[in-house]
Amino acid sequence: MTAPTTLQRFWAWLIAPPDEVIADAARDGELLVARVRSWLTLLLLAIPLFSIALNPIAAKHWLGLTVAGTAFVAAVIIEKAVQRGLHRPGLPFATTIADVSIISLGLLAFWFIDLPIVATNSRVIFEAYFVAIAASALRYSPPVCLVAGGTAITQYAILSMLTPVVFTEEALANGVSSYGGFEPATQAARLILLLAMTVMALTIVDRTIRLRRQGTFDRLTGLFNRAYAEEYLGPELARSARMGDSVVIAMLDVDKFKPFNDTHGHAAGDAALREMAKLLRGTLRRSDVIARFGGEEILIVMPGTRLQAALEKLDEVRVAIGLKEIPLPRGGTGQITVSIGVAAYPEDGTEPDELLDVADARLYVAKEDGRNRIVAVAAQA
Ligand code: GH3
Ligand code: MG
Ligand code: MG
Repeated sequence: MTAPTTLQRFWAWLIAPPDEVIADAARDGELLVARVRSWLTLLLLAIPLFSIALNPIAAKHWLGLTVAGTAFVAAVIIEKAVQRGLHRPGLPFATTIADVSIISLGLLAFWFIDLPIVATNSRVIFEAYFVAIAASALRYSPPVCLVAGGTAITQYAILSMLTPVVFTEEALANGVSSYGGFEPATQAARLILLLAMTVMALTIVDRTIRLRRQGTFDRLTGLFNRAYAEEYLGPELARSARMGDSVVIAMLDVDKFKPFNDTHGHAAGDAALREMAKLLRGTLRRSDVIARFGGEEILIVMPGTRLQAALEKLDEVRVAIGLKEIPLPRGGTGQITVSIGVAAYPEDGTEPDELLDVADARLYVAKEDGRNRIVAVAAQA
């Protein structure tokens, strides 16, 4: 195996799938952008309406009204779709490309009202590209940012290069004199600014994803951390209550882990925790949440699972961990066993703390009873 090249690393970073929380933030971002888009297009409608009030026979104002009206209707349709939870993977790409293209079309429109110099020297519409690229960062996806910046740069470069080809110097000077002349250096500077904005948006998205990852995952095992598990449990129980689903909660603790560390060393203990995490992730469902709750304590939340099915799965896990030969850093292999306490929603409680307490108490019983076992029902009095 050779080390990945910079390009391969960049590609892996670019296409890494988002975790649930980032995906959630991206959905919120898409909705916010959709709302802003609706309001902005509504405001833009005012411009041709105002012009028509002043000069109702100019065809270009009616054309402007048709374009602005179509944009507004499209924006409202997109907003309703996003609100209703339409989240196809291509949606943020499509809306981002549409936003950038509308700005380019806005600039291009000056070609057709005999003010071509405004297309390249606009002082307000061009800046809207920055808003669109910044808004692309709210989708928390590096490829979406790249597409936003790439589309803006490409479309503006084409418009900027074509304008002096399509129009004579005379036609270009036929502008409002305050817009100045066509300057290639200024055009190049504008393209560089678009590039800088794109890099900035990408950096913000990258930092956000990294910070979220640090706050969500445990470094040693790659499992969710305790903070995430606690944050997740409340809403998950509320969701299950609405759907009438059952949820199983299991607290797993490594047996006699202190002696394992004392015998094989702390590094071996760490290796054992990593192996156990890998086995758990490989055996349990993707929808199950597995979190490192304490040093050698793992919380497993199994949404939409009946107790009997959960117990069968958990026992499979318990047996598999016991059989696993863990390679030790000092050579040779070691083995661990685990005890598991189980609580079920809603039978054993409806609040997160209640269920955690019940699972913990049963874990304690499993230890008392001799370890390497699962306890799922209250001890008989
Ligand atoms: P029991 O069967 O009753 O659970 O016994 P135990 O020894 O596992 O329980 P105890 O709570 O006394 O000890 C937990 C030990 O787990 C303490 C520490 O040595 C070890 N431990 C906790 N976190 C880590 C870790 O991140 N890495 C390593 N290597 N060991 C850890
Ligand atoms: Mg413990
Ligand atoms: Mg232990």
